[in-house]
Amino acid sequence: MKIAVLPGDGIGTEIVNEAVKVLRALGLPFEMEQALVGGAAYDAHGHPLPESTLKLAMAADAVLFGAVGDWKYDKLDRPLRPEQAILGLRKHMGLFANFRPAICYEQLVGASSLKPELIAGLDILIIRELTGDIYFGQPRGRRTAVDGHFPGTEEAFDTMRYSKPEIERIAHVAFQAARKRHKKVTSVDKANVLETFQFWKDVVTEVHAQYPDVELQHMYVDNAAMQLVKAPKAFDVIVTGNMFGDILSDEASMLTGSIGMLPSASLNSKGQGLYEPSHGSAPDIAGKGVANPLATILSAAMMLRFSLNQPEAADRIEAAVQKVLAQGLRTPDIHGEGTTQVGTAQMGDAVVAALM
Ligand code: NAD
Repeated sequence: MKIAVLPGDGIGTEIVNEAVKVLRALGLPFEMEQALVGGAAYDAHGHPLPESTLKLAMAADAVLFGAVGDWKYDKLDRPLRPEQAILGLRKHMGLFANFRPAICYEQLVGASSLKPELIAGLDILIIRELTGDIYFGQPRGRRTAVDGHFPGTEEAFDTMRYSKPEIERIAHVAFQAARKRHKKVTSVDKANVLETFQFWKDVVTEVHAQYPDVELQHMYVDNAAMQLVKAPKAFDVIVTGNMFGDILSDEASMLTGSIGMLPSASLNSKGQGLYEPSHGSAPDIAGKGVANPLATILSAAMMLRFSLNQPEAADRIEAAVQKVLAQGLRTPDIHGEGTTQVGTAQMGDAVVAALM
């Protein structure tokens, strides 16, 4: 079981250290190799995704990723920005399906900004298409001169596109995932305004014919954004495109109390995956030892389940996380009355102790 470990920038190194600690404590034969990515790789090699890092990731069964980015790279040309490393990994590894479960742990009901009755028992899954849409269209703007030449500086645009096979494969993933849950898929689009999303809606409806046991609902993205805070438990699986998925999954993450709790998995058709927390590199708290490592630890559990075929080990990690929450241990982002505040490393140590 080969794992490429790419901590990245900001809190990336701190949280990945804790996940690695937990993986090591399982006593399974993992081969873990670490490499630079994002701003750290740019500083060392002049590129956010050096050839050697990409090679390591491609050869691994799974990639454990921290986070990339820092404000200090904001002035770089777009292809050199740290965030391009994730786009590059998704593209080269063919990681088209992003799974973001939003689960509200009983012990954290009070940490959400929504009323407890709205989110107690929440368990929804957002499946975001990752390799198409406007993020992989053709950008034009002040920082994207092609061949050293960009004809205009008074406008910028990005093209939005989806092909039929791209929509079909993510729709299959969503219907199959729903079959293992509550058998309901909400496909989120903007078909009333965008041609790309009318096409999305038509193709998802076609694929649905093969899953008569699963209920399909279509919803416009603006309504979905409202419904997520109004009645989030009405959803089971949400499937949507790259940009809407990006936004809605962050919204969903806040339902659960903290973005520091939410894992994610990005999978290709071979079962290879990249596992990372849903949050970014949090430059505002980097180096302070206060970041919540649980999203990354839970991402490692998803890795064991989806790419490494170790479901029991995944269950052990998830149970250990529940246990430390039940013990009242909290990093500052989820800290509240009657709980014990701990730092990043203490939280990792507590999860390791709870594994035993
Ligand atoms: P962010 O997710 O890094 O931070 C948003 C807020 O959440 C901050 O207040 C931060 O302190 C807090 N937060 C995030 N993770 C936390 C954790 N584990 N524990 C406690 N608090 C946590 O988003 P941002 O501030 O918009 O972006 C910062 C940088 O991260 C940018 O450069 C951005 O491009 C990058 N980014 C990277 C990824 C990625 O690597 N996949 C994703 C999103 C943003």
